[in-house]
Amino acid sequence: MIPFLDLRRQYDLVRDDIEAAVKGVLDSGQFILGPAVQRFEGDFARYCRTEHAVAVSSGTAALHLALLAAGVEPGDEVITVPMTFVATVAAILYAGARPIFVDVDESTWTMDAAQLEAAITPRTKAILPVHLHGLMADMEPILAMAARRGIAVIEDAAQAHGAEYRGKRAGSMGRLGCFSFYPGKNLGACGEGGAVVTDDPALAERVRVLRDWGQVRKYEHQFQGFNYRMDGIQGAILGVKLRHIEAWTEGRRRAAVAYDRNLGAIRRPSPPDHCRHVYHVYAVRVAGRDRVRAELDQAGIGTGIHYPVPVHLQPAYAGLGYGVGDFPVSERIAAETLSLPMFPELEDGQVEEVCRAVIRAVDGGEG
Ligand SMILES: *Cc1c(COP(=O)(O)O)cnc(C)c1O
Repeated sequence: MIPFLDLRRQYDLVRDDIEAAVKGVLDSGQFILGPAVQRFEGDFARYCRTEHAVAVSSGTAALHLALLAAGVEPGDEVITVPMTFVATVAAILYAGARPIFVDVDESTWTMDAAQLEAAITPRTKAILPVHLHGLMADMEPILAMAARRGIAVIEDAAQAHGAEYRGKRAGSMGRLGCFSFYPGKNLGACGEGGAVVTDDPALAERVRVLRDWGQVRKYEHQFQGFNYRMDGIQGAILGVKLRHIEAWTEGRRRAAVAYDRNLGAIRRPSPPDHCRHVYHVYAVRVAGRDRVRAELDQAGIGTGIHYPVPVHLQPAYAGLGYGVGDFPVSERIAAETLSLPMFPELEDGQVEEVCRAVIRAVDGGEG
């Protein structure tokens, strides 16, 4: 059996430190925000090479508050991609704005910067590229276009902790960057969590105020705000795990090298040399995906699909007015993508076994 994801193995490595950190919070009685969260915010900002990090209750909350902090209002448009998790799009709607999609690039599966200009209108307030699977979107042309038009760029880095583009860290290139600490993410809490990072002190302060009921001082509610605070226990756990993330990321990258070496002609995205991919997901593209997936399942190999339906074709988002054929690259990828086992402790021998099974299943379908 080779699982798709094995959180247990990682927990076993850090169990003692996590239990001590949790006990520290329980003893302190500071369950919401507090010193453990504050410490984590400082450490995470340093990790992202930004001036500020504000911890919140989820990646979705991070996106929602980043959009609000950037001044996104009802009537505005925010440009993103349909090949993402629904939260990216939901957050735009939570802010009252209209999501506008551009398709992804066939070789990287991230925002096709060449299609961006045609999507910009006088109502465009922000561009929200998604660093899908841990590979940063093509930030240089996106930032250049946004700068020419005076539009904010907000990074959805929920899958990209520690990813780099020409040596710059995910979250540090746009005006604001958004992270998720959902347990299965590259840096995962033992519950929900997220963060917004930025170099701009005024934006950081706005996110900090909005996450806690818009209070500028106790009982002084300048804005309506939200209950989007991080738990002390999650902050303490994330602080422990952050100390290991570089080693874990290298484990993922080592497994990806083994996949690349053993997958032969199986199609997959090709990350540019100037990017550090952190492999939240290792995906391939296969015809007859559901059959291949069933055969792998029979062989005891766990897989996932990220994502089987692009957001513009999800029933909940039919009201946006898009339909089949509007984003052909995203639609083709969604039909063929298959996520293979990926976690830092995955061994080369296991990767080789998965690759043999994938090639066997694909060849079997052709015979
Ligand atoms: C996980 C994820 C989110 C949402 O994060 P939550 O912490 O689950 O709210 C947003 N965008 C992307 C791309 C994600 O993968």
